[in-house]
Amino acid sequence: MSTQQIVESTSLKRDYYHLIINGEKVESSNGATIKTYNPATGELVAEVAKATKEDAERAVLAAREAFDHGKWRKYPINRRSQVLNNIASIMRSRFKELVELEILDTGKSLDTAKGQVSQAIEDFEFYAGAIVGHRGTVNNMPGQFHNYTEKEPVGVCAQIIPWNYPIMMAAWKIAPAIAVGCSVIVKPASLTPLTAIILGEICLEAGVPAGVVNIVPGSGAEVGDYLVQHPKVNKVAFTGSTPIGKDIMGKASETLKRVTLELGGKSPNLVFEDADLDASVDGSLYGIFYNSGQSCEARSRLYVHEDIYDEFIQKFVEKTKKLVLGNPFDKGTHVGAIIDQGQVDVIDGYVKSAIADGAEILAGGKPAAVKGFEGGYWYEPTVIANVNHEMKVVQEEIFGPVVVVMKFKDEKEAIKLANDTEFGLGSAIWTKDGARATRVANEIQAGIVMVNCPFSAMPGTPFGGYKQSGFGRELCIETLDLYTETKSIVSYYGSRPLNPMGL
Ligand code: NAP
Ligand code: MG
Repeated sequence: MSTQQIVESTSLKRDYYHLIINGEKVESSNGATIKTYNPATGELVAEVAKATKEDAERAVLAAREAFDHGKWRKYPINRRSQVLNNIASIMRSRFKELVELEILDTGKSLDTAKGQVSQAIEDFEFYAGAIVGHRGTVNNMPGQFHNYTEKEPVGVCAQIIPWNYPIMMAAWKIAPAIAVGCSVIVKPASLTPLTAIILGEICLEAGVPAGVVNIVPGSGAEVGDYLVQHPKVNKVAFTGSTPIGKDIMGKASETLKRVTLELGGKSPNLVFEDADLDASVDGSLYGIFYNSGQSCEARSRLYVHEDIYDEFIQKFVEKTKKLVLGNPFDKGTHVGAIIDQGQVDVIDGYVKSAIADGAEILAGGKPAAVKGFEGGYWYEPTVIANVNHEMKVVQEEIFGPVVVVMKFKDEKEAIKLANDTEFGLGSAIWTKDGARATRVANEIQAGIVMVNCPFSAMPGTPFGGYKQSGFGRELCIETLDLYTETKSIVSYYGSRPLNPMGL
């Protein structure tokens, strides 16, 4: 089926999408729209109401009202849990359409989109279960005192998300927040607003009361910034670039909002001399070229032990050259499109800087020409060797299908190189030696260490960074703590009145 036929047959595909505020599909206050394009073809997919500050204000007031006077946070936990399961069931019943809409909006390949929609569904199921076991504590107290704690929802949460995993990021944010009883205002990325809007509609259909989930696509600099500074917003959860994360942290401090930041990465991938060669080659390919390398967790620095370097790199480069770029809807496509021309230019700028610095291109190295998709945005899977650790291409996040490869001589050097970065999100170790895997894992300064596998994002598994990759963990039980405050209740049950002043 051609992309055009799929556009026509996708039932979730419309020409126009509304904002969702206070349980209703609404226009923006000034009638402005965002145009969203299919990065594989460059064609217009739809127009979307573009929220203004006035719309953001409406959303904050709706979320505030729903939180302060609404019923959602007072529901018995089992009832909220049931609604989260309803959301997952409706998503499952529209799985194919959600996958198609996500591909149209992002240009990502079919397998990639399927995996991400599946995970978004599983996130709601995970938190439907996790919330039932999320509880306070009873603590030892001296004498005639009793202390217990309650986990109370933090309140109204602004949730700002990027374009690389639109539905998955929306699910990572919405599911834990509403599970504990918060109200949310989601600001999707301007380049990819569609599936977040549909998810907002599904929440309403599943029984989430009006005002609890609001979706306001609009400019980050305008609407995102407004939400971050709004005194009636209690928490900001942000996934995106490190510079914007820093800006948000500064501004949110004015009102002492709770903040969670999931930021950029430059994750190391260490292949030791005793690794299973084929498994580590395939895993390393997936680690960088999955989602066209537009992944915060992409294993973009590949370090290989000197004893196996030549053989490993030969296989790695051979397989890189065989990766298929093509129709994202085809099962045989390995690598999808790049989000827009701006991102292609960013990627190409990094590759050119590496060449100028004396690096060697072993595969790829330029924008890709993909037959039948000439109007779209594509980049060749690229392998860069002969680099040093000071180069931009080694230190900065590229966010595209580009990997730098380097040799190491022993475990100590591998650890030193892996940690020589301002980031600390993902990492991977390939070895058959369990003791070495544990030693190296303990030394790596990153929130995620994978041993003999490339990716980690599974519901229940904590996801988040060290250093300038941000803080806070998502996708896990501890996320529920980041959407709650702990209230400590102390009572006295002595038979005589307390008289601490001895009056
Ligand atoms: P971005 O430019 O930081 O944008 C992310 C979101 O923030 C978008 O919704 C954007 O809105 C909004 N925004 C922009 N300026 C803002 C401001 N001043 N105040 C408030 N919000 C603002 O990042 P991106 O280019 O979309 O995404 C790529 C980045 O995300 C990469 O650095 C990647 O590593 C990171 N990422 C991290 C994780 C993780 O879990 N650690 C996961 C995925 C992606 P507009 O779309 O309107 O600009
Ligand atoms: Mg788009």
